[in-house]
Amino acid sequence: MAVNWIEGWLKNTWVNHTLKFAFAVLITVLLAPFRFDGLEYIAYDLRMQFSPRPATSGEIVLVPIEFETLKKLKRDPEALDWSLVLQKIGQAQPAQVVSFVNPSQIQGSYDDLSFLADIASRLPFQYAEDDLPKVGATHLDPLAPPFDNMLVLPAPKAPDRGMLAKDGVTRRLILAYENRFTMHARLAESFNHIHHIDGYSGAYSLLDSTQMQIRYRDKGVYPTLKFVDALEKSLDPERLRGKIVLIGRDTMEAGADYGTTPLSKNLLALSQLEINANILDTLIRNEAPRFSPEWVKLLFTFLIALLTIYIVLGVRPAKGLFMLASALIVYLGVSLLVFANFRWMVPVAHPLVAVFICYYFVIPYRLIIENRRSWEYYQKNRLLVQVEELKSNFMRMMSHDLKTPLARIQGMAEVLRKEHGNLTETQALALETILESSEELMEFISSILSLSRIASKEMKLQLRSRDVNQVLRNVVRRCEHLAARKNISIVVELEPLFSIRVDEDLLKTVFTNLLENAIKYSNENSKVLVTSDEINNELVVQIADQGRGIAREELTQIFDRFYRARNSRGDTPGNGLGLYLVKYFVELHNGRVDVESEINKGSTFSVRLPMNLDLEPESPPEHSGGLYV
Ligand code: ADP
Repeated sequence: MAVNWIEGWLKNTWVNHTLKFAFAVLITVLLAPFRFDGLEYIAYDLRMQFSPRPATSGEIVLVPIEFETLKKLKRDPEALDWSLVLQKIGQAQPAQVVSFVNPSQIQGSYDDLSFLADIASRLPFQYAEDDLPKVGATHLDPLAPPFDNMLVLPAPKAPDRGMLAKDGVTRRLILAYENRFTMHARLAESFNHIHHIDGYSGAYSLLDSTQMQIRYRDKGVYPTLKFVDALEKSLDPERLRGKIVLIGRDTMEAGADYGTTPLSKNLLALSQLEINANILDTLIRNEAPRFSPEWVKLLFTFLIALLTIYIVLGVRPAKGLFMLASALIVYLGVSLLVFANFRWMVPVAHPLVAVFICYYFVIPYRLIIENRRSWEYYQKNRLLVQVEELKSNFMRMMSHDLKTPLARIQGMAEVLRKEHGNLTETQALALETILESSEELMEFISSILSLSRIASKEMKLQLRSRDVNQVLRNVVRRCEHLAARKNISIVVELEPLFSIRVDEDLLKTVFTNLLENAIKYSNENSKVLVTSDEINNELVVQIADQGRGIAREELTQIFDRFYRARNSRGDTPGNGLGLYLVKYFVELHNGRVDVESEINKGSTFSVRLPMNLDLEPESPPEHSGGLYV
């Protein structure tokens, strides 16, 4: 009782939709507090890789100390080498010179180092240290003498090591700590004139700093002046004037000089020098990727969860899977487009996880429903088969039991007719009506009998060699009295034919039904033409009338069981079985029947039978459902 009530309640459309809606909300709320950084950052990196790379600002020149420099000098560059290089760079008047090499670690006598410190002090020179000031301090500790007056600025690296994706990839830059700009933002300031963190788009707070995502370019896009060339060759000042010059190591020796990026996870993917150039350009061009707000994540997770629930519960499994996969591909495609065009990072991980969770929660529910449904179908089907069996048994029994008394009535009426001299006019008329009606009833019973034989698959062809023209003549003769009543003349034009193997009784039914229809649906004083011929190894019998015709849209239906066209409803008696049997019997002979018709002009039915019906028919007509012949 309670189960029935719950089932009925679940079938209510509104309840159904509300439950799906509620489930999607539940999944969204349950997933919200979880982080799927691993998955999210895979999607993040893919979007980076598949979007067009941004242009560089053109304000940065790299001076790498690479392997060639070490090879030529046969040692690390020392204080005097640095002094010479800085002197030359200084003459070109760059906007800023940044060293990522700690000057205190440069080799040289104290005098040489002092000389270097002196040269650096005449340039807009700074040492970028991979660190932040200690808590409470505003500056980093100064370097040891003779570099104690040198500007030391914080330029911390921020690889995702202990947090977020935890894969060591450098995706973030630190824009400011305790509301103070790091070195990169300070350098960018004079190019983009952004003096406050609010001026940057895509900035967010993380721990006690303000951070942004880095937008990467491919390796090797920045103009480069090798340290050894700067040392040994004369410089073109135009290449450096007004630019930010970054000096650092790129010797392929120390892992610390390199980092992995969303574009490449190779060990030596990008030198820190180039990573810093990308950080600077992200700031100068103010085009960091932006994360969507939290509500966008919730909304998309909810929508995708809802879509999954509807698809899983409402669509066939294979099609549903295909639709889900397509929906996910479209979602990923759109997220890529949104990133490429607007730098927005639409959340991907939560919606993806929502799809899988919904799928695995909802599928068992669907299986239960499906199981129940197929059980119901099975029960219904069993019942239908029983009913069908009962029906055909009943029809057969009824037809047989009706036929015998009817034949008796017909016999007695015939006896009376023979003695019609003794009957009054009214009695003779009544007798005719009895004979006609019983004839009609007999035909109907025969049709029903044939139908039940077809349904119970009992029909077998009795093939014998026959002259079809002779069969036709017999049929025409039997129908003449019908035609005479409407003063219809039946014109017969038969070409001589070879005998072929046919079931005479069935063929007689075919031609009788067609000819009776032709007469039945014709006006008085018209003509019905019956022809036979052999065309292309086929025997073609045509029965054409000048009657009321059949509407074009009904032509395909008139061969259906019990179908009666509009032109017959109302005044003309009939049961809609005649043409069904015609088609069935003709197809049993491997033949076919066609009709051409025009309203108020007439109809022509053509029966085509193969001449070489020595063969047993290969298979029963399609709609027989496995009838054997
Ligand atoms: P019925 O017992 O109604 O004649 P049939 O199966 O023999 O059933 O024919 C199906 C329908 O096709 C008829 O009801 C009639 O509307 C249409 N029809 C059949 N033969 C003709 C014809 N010669 N002229 C016009 N309509 C016809």
